[in-house]
Amino acid sequence: MNLDVDRDRLVREIEELALISDAPAPAVTRIVFTPTDLKARAWLIARCEQAGLVVRQDPVGNIFARWTGSDAIAPAVGTGSHIDAIPNAGRFDGVVGVLGGLEAIRSLGRSGFRPKHSIELLVFTSEEPTRFGIGCLGSRLLSGSLSPSAARVLADKDGASLEEVRKKAGFKGELDKVELPRGYYKAFVEMHIEQGPLLERQKVPLGIVTRIAAPASLRISVEGAGGHAGGVLMPDRRDALCAAAELILAIENVAKTCGTIDTVATVGICEVFPGAVNSIPSRVHLTVDIRDTSLERRDAVLRDIQAAREAIAAKRQVSIEENLLNADAPTECAPEIIEALSDSCKKCKQPFILMVSRAYHDSLFISRIAPVAMLFIPCWNGYSHRPDEFAAPEDIARGVTILAETLAGLAG
Ligand SMILES: [Zn+2]
Repeated sequence: MNLDVDRDRLVREIEELALISDAPAPAVTRIVFTPTDLKARAWLIARCEQAGLVVRQDPVGNIFARWTGSDAIAPAVGTGSHIDAIPNAGRFDGVVGVLGGLEAIRSLGRSGFRPKHSIELLVFTSEEPTRFGIGCLGSRLLSGSLSPSAARVLADKDGASLEEVRKKAGFKGELDKVELPRGYYKAFVEMHIEQGPLLERQKVPLGIVTRIAAPASLRISVEGAGGHAGGVLMPDRRDALCAAAELILAIENVAKTCGTIDTVATVGICEVFPGAVNSIPSRVHLTVDIRDTSLERRDAVLRDIQAAREAIAAKRQVSIEENLLNADAPTECAPEIIEALSDSCKKCKQPFILMVSRAYHDSLFISRIAPVAMLFIPCWNGYSHRPDEFAAPEDIARGVTILAETLAGLAG
């Protein structure tokens, strides 16, 4: 097979899609079901149809673009990612897997290859949690990880429900129809920028993902006693912020001392009430994000945080409540897909490393219904979710070549 990836066209398409944005270039903002998102979808669908793919969209707006194989009823081989972007993001996150997947299919077509299993490009709706507060909306529904009834009541910051918003955007079917039957995909491969610095640091152009970490998030409320910053003497205080500060450091310590760099914990939000210079903080809300590649270890971290919370509450005479917002399980990628990707790298004489994905992706959820692995390409300085996010054309093209080889091998 003589694969000839059209790097220049692919780079041009990435640039073009980046201009369909609610932020001035080079920043990209594309929030699900906004007019800009709908415009980007139409642009993309036109490109898929030009490539001869059969396009359908499901009731939550996941886009399927299929190159029908000679055995049309055999399970398909899937690839794809997302095109939504958080406010003020870059051009490559998700897009490299979508337009790169499209170019992989086109280059296979040009080479004369004809698949037995259909090859399908899948563009996931709302990988980013920006609008509805939950990431990977499309892939959660596809895999049955989120029930249609729970999805229906999700709402954006203006109080509009997913049900209203998607219907207004033209997606009218029932959410119950989104879940894919088991066996729909024979295999799924997602190409993505690394969003971390390891490939660049190690000067390796490709990473094959063996495990995908998953987050658990907690909302913690600390209730102490407020009062006048002058009037209440130190021995009498039950300062909620001081208790929260101890807890934040305890959380950091739990993650730092659990014996692996694969565990990370972050307190990203700290809201203090009443928030006045001369008032003792009476109440604090924290949100905590804990990620790990091992479910057992992550659950152990959650238990350690609970123990710290109870000890601090008792010592400082405050009440600390904890609410688990979500706790997705990490996943192991499928050995046969990891092998298929490694074989393609070896065949094309491209060095690669096996690595962990510390960010989570739609593949995390698709792994619950199909064998999955991911292919990472380097991004400059590991930067992502910012306007100067950058992946070099040669790195993208190399990734597309390996992706195309792998899809061809899997679709036979
Ligand atoms: Zn992404």
